[in-house]
Amino acid sequence: MSDQIADTLHELIVATRILANEKVLDAFGHVSVRHPHDPQRYFIPRHRAPELAEISDLVELTLDSEPVRPTEFRLYSEKVIHGEIYKARPDVSAVCHHHAHTVLPFAISGQQIVPVFHLGAVVGHVPFWDQRDEFGDTNMLVVKPEEGASLARALGPHWMVLMRRHGATVAGTSIRELIFRTVFGSDNCKLLAQAMALGHVDSLSPGEAKLTSAHQQRPPSTNRAWDYWVRQVEKAGLMPAKASTGGRGQKRAAPAKRRAAPKSSKKVAVKARKHR
Ligand SMILES: [Zn+2]
Repeated sequence: MSDQIADTLHELIVATRILANEKVLDAFGHVSVRHPHDPQRYFIPRHRAPELAEISDLVELTLDSEPVRPTEFRLYSEKVIHGEIYKARPDVSAVCHHHAHTVLPFAISGQQIVPVFHLGAVVGHVPFWDQRDEFGDTNMLVVKPEEGASLARALGPHWMVLMRRHGATVAGTSIRELIFRTVFGSDNCKLLAQAMALGHVDSLSPGEAKLTSAHQQRPPSTNRAWDYWVRQVEKAGLMPAKASTGGRGQKRAAPAKRRAAPKSSKKVAVKARKHR
């Protein structure tokens, strides 16, 4: 494993711990990252609560959301959200799907999200997607490739899409930009709801939103916020092993998966449809 891949995998696990610690992810939701050397693949943890995910839990999937190597790991059924967005958006390198309670009132009510403070501007325009429109009654999980593709079309050129009565999906050009947008997007929704309860909302003008969003997405801002959230993760005792240790962990984990290979591919495909 190259150092760049080891660092990327470590950063992905740190990102999941940050979003769990910031109460954006709970038992459900997931974060993925595009393979740094192969844009036709991405990494995502196996089916488990994000806060519990380890580097050895990461699986490498094609953009059709099929495992690159046979694995007995149970996978997220909503993995197609990630694969279909990576297919549709070559500029996207990281994706988060979540059901944060700060954001859900907007997905439930159909109330448009608008930026109400400078850091919230990174959400940009947030379109809606209603699975019911195209697919009728479903179990509301995005499990079929065509459902993921429909969601990706609704996202369009934007960076966050609200999923009616379900949650949200957020994209970024990097893990750090994604986490910045996801956390401050959640904060923006909380503040917007509070301002609405007070009876008046003074949102950013389109010009303010454009200028401040561009400013906040620069590395000095995203790295400063990342460092702060990493410190919170450390204080919570949730920090995963360093990248070099993580790389060794990944190598240790690999033979177990390979040994399990002969009986696994069909089993995984079946299991993946059953579990979220
Ligand atoms: Zn979901």
